[in-house]
Amino acid sequence: MEREIRERILEKIREYDTVMLFRHKRMDGDCVGASKGLKRVIEKSFPEKRVLLIDGQHSDYLSFAGVDDAEVGEEVYRQALGIVVDTGNRERISNPRYALCRELIKIDHHIETDPYGDLNWVEDERASACEMVADFCLGFRDCLCLDREAAELLFMGMVTDSGRFRTSEVTGETLRLAAALLDKGVDTVRLYGNLYLQEFESLKFASFVYETMEKTPNGVAWVYISRADQARFGLTFEDASNAISLIDSIRGCLCALAFIECPTAGEGIRVRLRSRYMPVDGLAGRYRGGGHAFASGSTVYDRGEAQALIRDADEAVRTWKETHDDWM
Ligand code: AMP
Repeated sequence: MEREIRERILEKIREYDTVMLFRHKRMDGDCVGASKGLKRVIEKSFPEKRVLLIDGQHSDYLSFAGVDDAEVGEEVYRQALGIVVDTGNRERISNPRYALCRELIKIDHHIETDPYGDLNWVEDERASACEMVADFCLGFRDCLCLDREAAELLFMGMVTDSGRFRTSEVTGETLRLAAALLDKGVDTVRLYGNLYLQEFESLKFASFVYETMEKTPNGVAWVYISRADQARFGLTFEDASNAISLIDSIRGCLCALAFIECPTAGEGIRVRLRSRYMPVDGLAGRYRGGGHAFASGSTVYDRGEAQALIRDADEAVRTWKETHDDWM
C-alpha cells in the first residue's frame, strides 16, 4: 500500500512539466528541509521540468537554507502539480494559491485530520516529513538523484523535528535513512553551527524564562512571554517561541506550555504544547489547534483563556499520573 502510493506520486511527478512545492505557515526545519530537499531532487532528476517553491514568508533562523522562488502568474499554478509537505490541514498551508494547482499531493507525518490531496501519503508514526521524503527518494534511487545538497536539507529536517533524534517516533529506520543521507557527504559541523550556535542575548532571555517559569501542582510547566518581554530582549516572535525548548524536560512535568503573545494584539497568543507520555493533541484541539500526540500548537485570546488551558492541562496530568506509573 505505502509502496503503491509512492509509485503513484512518482508517476505524477513524471507526468507534469511544472511541479510546485508547498509547506506550512510558521516554517520550521522539517517543512523547509522537505520542500527544498524534494525540489532539489526533482530538479536534479528531471532537468527539463520547472520546479517552484513559492512561499512569501521568511525565517531568520532558517535563512541559511537559501531563498525561495519569486511569485509567478496564476496560469503557472493552474497547470502545475502541487506537492504539500509536512502540513496536516489546508488552513496551515502557507501559500494560499496552492488551491489553484491542477492536482495536489499531500506528504505528511501529522495525525490525519484533513486529506486535502488528490493523493495523500500520511504516516503519523514517522519522526519527520523529511524522513518520508528521504525514504521516497532513496526508494527510487535508480531514477531519483539525491545529491549532497538535497541530503543536507533532508537531514536538517530529520534532526530538528526529532529533537536531535530523541523523540519517541525515532526508529531504527529513521537512523538508517539518516545514515544514508550522511553518506552523501552532509557537513554536520556547518549544519549544527547554523542550527545550534546561540546568541549572547538568547542566553540572557533563557535566564529570564528560567526565572519566570511556573509549575502547577500536578506537573505542568509553563511560561508566558508578552510583547513587552519580546521587545525588552530584542527578540523576534520566532526567537521568543523557542522558550518551549527550555521548559520541556523537567522531571515530573509531563506537560509544558509556552504562551507567546503574537506581534499584533488581535492575533492572540500562540501556545506551544509539549508533553512526555501523555498525548496533548486533544487538548490543543480544544483551543483552536492540533498537531502531534506529544507536540502540538494552539491559539488563545487572553490571559484568562491561557489560565483555563493551564488548568485543563493540569487536570489531564493529574489523571494521567493517577492511572499510570511508568512516568518520570
Ligand atoms: P509548534 O509548537 O508550532 O512547533 O507546533 C507543534 C506541532 O503542532 C507542529 O507539528 C505543528 O504543525 C502543529 N500545530 C501548531 N499549531 C497548530 C494549529 N494551530 N493547528 C494545527 N496544528 C498545529
